[in-house]
Parts: sequence; structure tokens; C-alpha cells
Amino acid sequence: MICVIVVEQKPLEDILEMVKGYERMLVLGCDGCAGIYQVGGEKQAEMLSSLLRMGEKTVHNKENSKIEASAVLRQCDKEIVREALENTIGDYDVILSMACGAGVQTVAEVFPETPVLPAVNTKFIGMQDRELGDLHERCRACGDCILDETGGICPIARCAKSLLNGPCGGQVEGKCEVGGYEHDCAWILIYRKLKEFGKLDQFMKLRLMRDNRISQSPRDMKGGIKYTGGGGE
Ligand code: SF4
Ligand code: SF4
Repeated sequence: MICVIVVEQKPLEDILEMVKGYERMLVLGCDGCAGIYQVGGEKQAEMLSSLLRMGEKTVHNKENSKIEASAVLRQCDKEIVREALENTIGDYDVILSMACGAGVQTVAEVFPETPVLPAVNTKFIGMQDRELGDLHERCRACGDCILDETGGICPIARCAKSLLNGPCGGQVEGKCEVGGYEHDCAWILIYRKLKEFGKLDQFMKLRLMRDNRISQSPRDMKGGIKYTGGGGE
């Protein structure tokens, strides 16, 4: 058995809003989990890039945006990502990733100077049956990805309290009180990253409480195409 992370593409209008202001984009598919059941693989990246080219013309009245598509074997593997993109990353202002939240954040960690935005919502992690070395949590499959607002750093998985607005009073010199100040405070990381990208307006934004029905378990992907939450149809 393998670990399969299930993703679902965001609505096109949301993606168009997200990439507003960028001129040179790479839609990056993942032929790992997301490609296995044909949601975020190479073909889907090509399809999305075509839709974005049309959308840029018709919605944003932009004729000259450069939108290209590509895919890597697995976006959650730093070496694969580095090898695949190190010679071309400078050609783009932004990467639109079709991988799960872990893949988005892996690409962002390998190329920290380039914004990496999520084109999909990560819905749930399907299965796991093998032992690995060190692992670091990067995504909790919340079903409503906000990495575009948080500098590519997930506050749900990386903040001990999953706070949507932070930091709380528990951070000291950038470290989190939970766990004895061993881990970085996610919200300090988010602040630094948004500042670096000139996006501190996102940091100041008030995020309201989540609607947890979106990620109510158990969840299924039926017939490979239909996502259901909250225990059934
Ligand atoms: S916000 Fe975090 S937990 Fe939710 S899908 Fe994105 S990376 Fe995963
Ligand atoms: S210190 Fe930072 S990471 Fe820890 S709970 Fe508070 S906001 Fe979250």
C-alpha cells in the first residue's frame, strides 16, 4: 500500500483571482498522488494552463501573460523538485502548484524566493503502509486551502493551536510554547514570509472561524470523481 493524498481543483475563478498581478506563471502538476487519479498530473496542468490563458484574456484583459505547464514525478520530494526546476525557476514570477499542500510547501522550501500558490484543495490522506525516516507535518487536509494567504506556510498543520490569526501570546523569540519552545512559531514564519513577498496586508486580514463541516470525517472519493464529506452522500 502507498500513501495517497486526495486533491480537488479549486474553482477557476478562485485561481484567476489568486494569480492576479503575476505575468509569468508555471502550472506545475504532480505525477505522484495527484496524478494517479488524474486530478493534478501533467495532462491536468496543461488543461488548467489553457483555461488560465483564456481567463487572463477574457477576465483580466491581459494578452501577454506567459502561462506554461509542466509536471514533476513527485512534488513532495525535494531532490526531484530541485532537479526538475533549478534551471528554469527564474523564468517565472509564480508557481501554481497542482500538488497537495505538502507538495506546494516542498516547492516553496526548495525555491524560497518564488511564491508558490495552491491550485487545488487538499481533501484527505488516503492510506499509508510503510516506514520512513524523519517526517514533518506540513498539511492536515483541511479541505479549504489558504496557503495563498499565508506565504505558503500552513497555520493549520504548523501552528500547535491551528490558529487562523496569530501569533498568540505563547511565542517567545519565534518559538512556540507548545512542546517546550522546540518548534518555530508558524505565525512568525508566516509573518516573515509575507513581509519578504511584500504581502503583509494578508497578515493583517482577519480570518473567521472555519466551517468544519467541510472536513467532517469519514470522507470518500467515489468512483474516482465524486468527493463526499460528512460520512456520505
Ligand atoms: S491550509 Fe494547510 S491544512 Fe489546509 S489544505 Fe492548505 S496546507 Fe493543507
Ligand atoms: S506560539 Fe505560534 S505556533 Fe505556537 S500556538 Fe501560538 S501562534 Fe501557534
